[in-house]
Amino acid sequence: MKKLDFANDLRECTLCEHRCGVDRIAGELGVCRMAGPVVASRTLHPAPPESYTIFVAGCNFKCIGCQNWTISQFPDNRMAVEGYVEPRSLAVESIRMLESTAGLLMGADRIFFSGGEPTIHLPFIESFMAEARRIRPALKVNYDTNGFMTEESLRRVLTFTTSLTFDIKAYYEDTMRAITGAPVQPVLRNAEIVGRTAPDKLWEYRIVAIPEINEDDIEPLCRFLASISKELPVAFLAFRPNFVLDEHFGAPSELMNRCVEEANAAGLKNVTYAGMTNIPGKTGSSLEEVEEAYQRSGSRLAASYARSKGCTTHPRDCGNCQSMSNCPIKRYIPFRNC
Ligand code: SF4
Ligand code: SF4
Repeated sequence: MKKLDFANDLRECTLCEHRCGVDRIAGELGVCRMAGPVVASRTLHPAPPESYTIFVAGCNFKCIGCQNWTISQFPDNRMAVEGYVEPRSLAVESIRMLESTAGLLMGADRIFFSGGEPTIHLPFIESFMAEARRIRPALKVNYDTNGFMTEESLRRVLTFTTSLTFDIKAYYEDTMRAITGAPVQPVLRNAEIVGRTAPDKLWEYRIVAIPEINEDDIEPLCRFLASISKELPVAFLAFRPNFVLDEHFGAPSELMNRCVEEANAAGLKNVTYAGMTNIPGKTGSSLEEVEEAYQRSGSRLAASYARSKGCTTHPRDCGNCQSMSNCPIKRYIPFRNC
């Protein structure tokens, strides 16, 4: 690997709440399975906020419905990625792309870090930002996150980011573990910190509605967000069959309308939904092996999908799993990606 000037954080990595403590510079791997930073792709992107989007590879979650699984589950799935890009030259290139004719025509007004999960490469992004803001002090940047960073990492992100797109996968612990392999409390804690201390930076909370899996979580999650502030922006996204949930059916339009109704009933005033609905598929069945580890039918179903693809630790707990270095979920190749 090239010499990095942001090595300290990676020597005993606690960038996210898995707090693996591994020496990534020495090649030790934690839950995210990433040593140094890898840029998977970068492109002008028209989805709001219009941007030059940089997708970094790897993730600290193993979400069964991940739409970006080729990027997030790198390196175990052996899908093609670009590799290391020096952060200062990437900053120069990114600003040039925002100022290009294509960037101006699109209305791209910021850099957008996505993945995978940017937090696992936070020192790299900070190096990028130092150079980018040296060139253009008012440069806007969006940070797209699953919210599982430590409070210290969140504080660092809030010092440089202009906007945050913040995914919340579930409200209940068992649903969260079944979907992601990680606990829910850090995400709810960070969502609250952002909502209370930096609401002006919140582009939106994003909640993917997965039929029959996290439907029970929607209403309590809306009440939780409304208890922080009824003005907070919330976007529901319709689940599309993907990754381990490749056979599952997409979110029906009735479910998306119900999400908005439940959010409004909780008092939230700034609610939208987006995404293609009614993609056909089927419903899996709950497996006896996982039954006792989960409290809700949705989490049991989600965990059963993971179990059927090889995940044997239940409740799912990627941070303490003996299969961490040989995870069958990270290597799963779906038959469709809608
Ligand atoms: S999962 Fe989180 S704490 Fe563990 S090595 Fe990756 S970034 Fe560091
Ligand atoms: S096998 Fe272990 S590391 Fe892989 S998804 Fe399941 S709990 Fe997580």
